[in-house]
Amino acid sequence: MKETLQFQAESKELLNLMINSIYSNKEIFLRELISNASDAIDKYKYLSLSSDGKLPLRDGEIHINVNDKDNTIEICDNGVGMSKDDLINNLGTIAKSGSKDFMAKFKEAKEKQDINIIGQFGVGFYSAFMVADKVEVLTKSTDGKSYLFTSDGKDSFTIEEANKDDVGTTIKLYLKKDQDDEDYSQFASTWTIERLVKKYSDYVRYPIKMMVKESKPKLDEEGKEIEGKFEDVLEEKTLNSMVPLWKKNKNEVTEKDLNEFYKSKFNDYEDPLLSLFVNVDGMVSYNSLLFIPSHAPYNLYSENYEKGLQLYAKNIFIKDKCPELIPDYLKFVRGLVDSDDFNLNVSREILQSSPVLKRIATNIEKKIVDELKKTKDNDFEKYSKFFDIYGEHIKYGIYSTYGDKKDLLQDLLVFHSLNAEDNKYISLKQYVDQMKKDQKNIYYAAGETLESIKLLPQLEKYRKEGIDVLLLDKKIDEFSLMMLQDYDKKQFKSISDESLNDEISKEEKDKIESLSATHRRFLDNAKESLKDKVDDVIFSSKLVESPVCISTKQGLSLNMEKTLEEQPGNEENESPKAIKVLEINPDHELFKALSKLEEDDEETKKYASILYDEALLLEGFDIKDKQSFVQKLNEVMIKSLNK
Ligand code: ADP
Repeated sequence: MKETLQFQAESKELLNLMINSIYSNKEIFLRELISNASDAIDKYKYLSLSSDGKLPLRDGEIHINVNDKDNTIEICDNGVGMSKDDLINNLGTIAKSGSKDFMAKFKEAKEKQDINIIGQFGVGFYSAFMVADKVEVLTKSTDGKSYLFTSDGKDSFTIEEANKDDVGTTIKLYLKKDQDDEDYSQFASTWTIERLVKKYSDYVRYPIKMMVKESKPKLDEEGKEIEGKFEDVLEEKTLNSMVPLWKKNKNEVTEKDLNEFYKSKFNDYEDPLLSLFVNVDGMVSYNSLLFIPSHAPYNLYSENYEKGLQLYAKNIFIKDKCPELIPDYLKFVRGLVDSDDFNLNVSREILQSSPVLKRIATNIEKKIVDELKKTKDNDFEKYSKFFDIYGEHIKYGIYSTYGDKKDLLQDLLVFHSLNAEDNKYISLKQYVDQMKKDQKNIYYAAGETLESIKLLPQLEKYRKEGIDVLLLDKKIDEFSLMMLQDYDKKQFKSISDESLNDEISKEEKDKIESLSATHRRFLDNAKESLKDKVDDVIFSSKLVESPVCISTKQGLSLNMEKTLEEQPGNEENESPKAIKVLEINPDHELFKALSKLEEDDEETKKYASILYDEALLLEGFDIKDKQSFVQKLNEVMIKSLNK
């Protein structure tokens, strides 16, 4: 019985794009189909190994048949095949996840006509419709049933029971007619196919075979070559060299090879930012190819992003995403690992908790970090690009391990700084090397954007004295520095840390003390008026131009308080609060004027409240009770205007 099913709405949209040839190089359809065939053989092998002999082990093979008369091409594999459900779920559904995330990106890509981005999604099979107007998939799965799936790639597909001898899949493409300068018939020529297999699929680990006409010397009846006479002989030829790239000799593999491999294996249109070929022979032996994409995977921040490296054991594919091989903070790294040290008789679950795997994982983590450090030292521009994209992950690595990875990761950190030109990054080492002789701390200022941080009142003194300050514009920054605590024995100190007031000269201290004594009544009144908001009101020696600022005592800063408040599930009143101190610039005109109010307790209190709100604004924060702020401001204005 033949059933007709509709493609999902999203699939239809994508198919439509495919048919209207969004890719400029349509030839990649072959790479996609061969890659699917190779994956299917991998899966079969794995199943057969763990089937207790029920599924016979076979040599994996891919056959390509071209027919230039009918204008068709077939790609046949002896892989796992697909059940009816597989056909519906895998070929009838785009990318297996109708997730919002995916669709959002997809729509965006479509609107921007950004063809390339689509290459990031698993659209492999659909690419067949770039060159074919009808596709037939004849498949037999390991349950013994065979089906024929047929589609013109428009609205629907049909599925019917069929007959096929061996487990595996044959995909037949009915090539489009040549049109609009597009030569589709070329794909029915053995010559083109040979070229494409070499170009894109050379290292596929299974032989890709095709019948080819070879011109051979003609033989006489005794089997001797007749000089000068040739004839066309049809022969089966293996088109690919089959050595997996990662099994090659390291010095035979060029950066270009790695890049090409990455792009075809991981469906990316851009070369990776970094690629790494690891070949370890020691306590454990393994080969690994590791890549850092030039752009974050589109769903890196979504919940359903799966981290992990592909795992092979003795050249046999085990698992697509093995999360144990990569720490969370490097989840953007893609690649694969192949080791001869795994015992294949153990189940996947046991394999994943094996000590060998753990050792490889630790080793890989170190290799990646080392490579990043090397890049930082040798190509800072490239490293800056890396850090722009993935820097927060490194910081997360420090934070989430409570500083355990301090030694490993601290030298990967780079920051913007007050003195650095053009918003360039500097490393902690650079900062320390440039510190002033008597400077004890590594200073930092935090806020939402570099622009807003640069406006912080507390920076005035540092700017005046030429002391550099790290500018932290990412939410995670302060949390990860809190975990690090120090670098090269220098403490990290926020310029908003109240304790910095202890570091001023004796002279300045005396001045502040005597001022505080003189204006005790003013300070007490201010403190009384702000008792729900601040821990103290003091005179500051760090302000130059600004009248006020807010500093915090120990632990939490204003920014951290805000970040914690914003965490889902944290009600505003429940999350931890920063201990705040209002600092007043005693040399500012505003204070000089205010101090005349000394005798009027009520007026002082009202002004103190305005000062606090003003300080919040200067620090780049919102005033919570805007009504009351405006009301007080109005009263003051009316009074002064009526004078
Ligand atoms: P992707 O390969 O990125 O997952 P595809 O659209 O190419 O996306 O394929 C979807 C799914 O269909 C595959 O993940 C696989 O499960 C199944 N599939 C495709 N081709 C074959 C094949 N030749 N043999 C068995 N299964 C296949």
